[in-house]
Amino acid sequence: MSNEQTLAQFEASTREWVKENFPTTLAGSAMGLEGEAEASTKADFEVWRQRLAEKGWGAPTWPVQYGGAGLSHPEAKIISQEMAKLGAFNPIPLLAGMGVTMVGPTILEYGTDDQKERHLKHIASGEVRWCLGLSEPGAGSDLASLSTKAIDNGDNFVVNGQKTWTSGADISQWCGALVRTDPNAKKRDGISFVMLPMGQAGVTTKPIKLISGASPFCDTFFDDARAEKADLLGDLNKGWSVVKRLLQHERQSQTQARSPGSGSKVSLQEKAKTYAGTDEKGALADADLRIRLANHLMDSHAHGLTVSRITAEAKGKVEVSAAASILKNSATKIAQAKNELTMEFMGTQGVGWEGSSFAESELSNVRDWLWGKAISIYGGSHEVQNNIISKNILGLPETTQKG
Ligand SMILES: Cc1cc2nc3c(=O)[nH]c(=O)nc-3n(C[C@H](O)[C@H](O)[C@H](O)COP(=O)(O)OP(=O)(O)OC[C@H]3O[C@@H](n4cnc5c(N)ncnc54)[C@H](O)[C@@H]3O)c2cc1C
Repeated sequence: MSNEQTLAQFEASTREWVKENFPTTLAGSAMGLEGEAEASTKADFEVWRQRLAEKGWGAPTWPVQYGGAGLSHPEAKIISQEMAKLGAFNPIPLLAGMGVTMVGPTILEYGTDDQKERHLKHIASGEVRWCLGLSEPGAGSDLASLSTKAIDNGDNFVVNGQKTWTSGADISQWCGALVRTDPNAKKRDGISFVMLPMGQAGVTTKPIKLISGASPFCDTFFDDARAEKADLLGDLNKGWSVVKRLLQHERQSQTQARSPGSGSKVSLQEKAKTYAGTDEKGALADADLRIRLANHLMDSHAHGLTVSRITAEAKGKVEVSAAASILKNSATKIAQAKNELTMEFMGTQGVGWEGSSFAESELSNVRDWLWGKAISIYGGSHEVQNNIISKNILGLPETTQKG
């Protein structure tokens, strides 16, 4: 049987399974289930999470042994597509925080059998959420300048220091943190990657409010926090290699040009027509806007095709490489361009912060636009990706970037 036939069969069986198992009460609700959702909706949500976890579809490409389904990347893509067609969604990657996209793949590569056994299934089922403590007040782009210390204490390390911008730290159960284990070594050589539970006395989190009003991240303080030696990921003082790989996984997960609000069922063209009006042929009335919108849609489509081509060239396995930096920057530009265009054609209806003259979708637009500014910062800033591209892909000489 050809590969296409096998994929077509997989598509049909996936559609069938989603139809049978996705509680229709949740259709289109995605992650809007926290807080005010009815108890019955929450119960349906939990049923759906459990069904996905049992099927290994929380992290479908991971080995079955570790809670995945052992599927290929094209098969995983089919699952997402079929779910989207039926208004379904996979909550597990979101519930697991940085677990499915970043920590898990890095544990699969660098972890001991014991670490894989203890951590991966709980990530793949969406029951344990992970955050990442990398950035510090004095170490962002220049991450190797970090000063959080971990001192050898027999079976464990004693960790002291401050992390910042830690996404989801206040709601995570585990943290993957980059710490200094040898203060005398050169700055990239004395660093290790440890994993530690957040629910211990030595860890405190303080949410930071963003300009968009949301508080998705925190300052995280380690005061004599403990990380077990059994939870050192990779070798002692070799954490720089581990984190470089982890950050490639992060960029890889950010190569889709998703902008805030991109889950909207109304297409950008339809939205533009509603706000900016149409001519007698039903086309967008403003010719200049029409051209820029068409250019944006072409860029977005070309980006999507490039991501698919690179995935296909890697024979279905998504290879994480320096090319992820190119795709991350391209995805960022497209997502931010979409926010700018939307803002422009919505006019004053797109800038409302509160008030009854704005629809709910209009009020969220300005917040989405503001949140969109973060895309070129998190996961390594746009400029830093350009440095990586110039050094590791184009082979240009170093300028400001060291190492
Ligand atoms: C929404 C969001 C979520 C985040 N989540 C996490 C998280 O979960 N865990 C975590 O550890 N961190 C997280 N971060 C932090 C993020 O990784 C850092 O913000 C990022 O690496 C930039 O570091 P910085 O903020 O210290 O800026 P800086 O490093 O101070 O950079 C400031 C400016 O200088 C530019 N710059 C710096 N160095 C160079 C250079 N060599 N060449 C050219 N330009 C340069 C940068 O591009 C930027 O424009 C998050 C950030 C955001 C916005």
